[in-house]
Amino acid sequence: MFLEVHASGPADTNCILLGCPVTKSAALIDAPAGCLPWVTKHVKKHQLSLEKLLLTHSHWDHIADSKALKDHFSLDIYVHPEDAGNLENPGSDGLPLLFDIDGVKPDHFLKDGMILTIGSLSLQVLDTPGHTPGCVCFWLPEQKILISGDTLFQGTIGNLSFPTARPSLMWSSLKKLASLPPDTHVIPGHGPPTTLSAESWISHAEEFF
Ligand SMILES: [Zn+2]
Ligand SMILES: [Zn+2]
Repeated sequence: MFLEVHASGPADTNCILLGCPVTKSAALIDAPAGCLPWVTKHVKKHQLSLEKLLLTHSHWDHIADSKALKDHFSLDIYVHPEDAGNLENPGSDGLPLLFDIDGVKPDHFLKDGMILTIGSLSLQVLDTPGHTPGCVCFWLPEQKILISGDTLFQGTIGNLSFPTARPSLMWSSLKKLASLPPDTHVIPGHGPPTTLSAESWISHAEEFF
């Protein structure tokens, strides 16, 4: 499997390029501001075919380059329906934008349990509402990799004070992640990677926040 992480934009948001070594099909997870040149370079370097953009949620720092990526690669954009509004009309979620962001319509809606394929790779969608109503994580069971967006970071969780946050839903979302294998490797939406065993506190996170 090809997997590379790159942070860009004012919030140092991670995007993750995933590719199948056999078919060269690839997907990008999240589209922070300024990621397009990095993505273009790596897709070319590894001769990948970038077919999908999968969004963990629609906060501006994760969607900023979505329209530019769609225009460049003609890829299909996937987002949870509860977060689709801010992808189409950036800023409509009440978070102030630092700069103008082009809206774009999603091509597909994500839903809990859905299996997405990238060549021979398969990713399962896990609904993890809390940080936003439509937050999702992507789980690669074979590789034991969890792409956690802004639901879980190394040592902490995503901000629950934003206008669209659903704090009461966050605790059950974290319990769901805690039920995955402890040796799962976690790639968050910001900051360094971690493992679920290092974040075992998430099974009772409501005691800490
Ligand atoms: Zn966020
Ligand atoms: Zn973020």
